[in-house]
Amino acid sequence: MPPIHLTRRQFTAAVGTSISAFALAPSLVVSTRRRDTFFEWKELRPGVHAAFGQGGNAGLIQTEAGALLIDAKNAPYGTTLRREADAVGRRVSLLINTHHHADHTGGNHAFHDPDHVGMIMHPKAKPRIEKQFERYVAQMKRARDQIDDLGEDVPEAAREEIKAAAERADEFEPVDFAAKAPLPATMFDGKEVHLGDLVFSMTHVGPGHTDNDIFVFIAEHNLLHAGDLLFHRNHPFMDTAAGATSAGWITSCRAMLEACDDETIVIPGHGEITDADGIRQQIRYFEVVREAAARALADGLERDRFVQSDLPVFKDYGFTRIKERTLGTIYDEMVEQREGGG
Ligand SMILES: [Zn+2]
Repeated sequence: MPPIHLTRRQFTAAVGTSISAFALAPSLVVSTRRRDTFFEWKELRPGVHAAFGQGGNAGLIQTEAGALLIDAKNAPYGTTLRREADAVGRRVSLLINTHHHADHTGGNHAFHDPDHVGMIMHPKAKPRIEKQFERYVAQMKRARDQIDDLGEDVPEAAREEIKAAAERADEFEPVDFAAKAPLPATMFDGKEVHLGDLVFSMTHVGPGHTDNDIFVFIAEHNLLHAGDLLFHRNHPFMDTAAGATSAGWITSCRAMLEACDDETIVIPGHGEITDADGIRQQIRYFEVVREAAARALADGLERDRFVQSDLPVFKDYGFTRIKERTLGTIYDEMVEQREGGG
């Protein structure tokens, strides 16, 4: 596919015009020792970091035109995320949301700075983000009262930022969390997009975890950010209200696998850093549960009993609290498939 350069208008909408403002920020050596920073930052390759904690895993990639940040975590911690991300290398100049969920978009407000930071999301994500605005506000207010639950070693700067977000919470508007000018859906078909010297692609296959998932691939770093199309070694949350299906999710995973080789580093939305095998395990999860659900249906096993099934192959998986919901969703999907298929 020929490379696509953002048009001037799209680039301005996405990145803003003040490229000259992206002077090198003073560099901070980020230790992996916990609590020097609020988030846990890990360097995956030179110029490529991931941030863990308080929401979906974020990716940070340095370019000559500023840093590219993928996902923005929960709302109360947006300011902290921006400060810590800016301190890693260059200032963040572009933020991509992998999908609309609040634990990936809540921090958007801190980057809503059209002169300096562009924001990219799938066009279907924007209205969903605006609709869940009250959830962000509630989270910001709640976080102030829960600072002590985060542990004594939370850096003072982060404490202050969390409190400040709570105090300002009522001033926010839905637009503060969403892209100003959404890019057309055709931007998300895996074309090459250029940001400074960095070439990357964004791909939306169809409904999977939601109806607006995109994965980001950066060939130069052989890096793939899967968003929540990958719940690595965790039971996956299926947002049926937003179009999730296991069949669609498998299709999206296969598309991600096509971009990968044995050396690809994969950042999952949740769970530890992995590789193509992590994606294969995600496919296997759905295949095993679909097969078990089909067998349950054939055996006349009720939904209520099925969701309590023990699937030994996933016994070490986290997010056990959503296991029953996920199994139920897949059971329903198999019922529908059976009826649809006659
Ligand atoms: Zn999600």
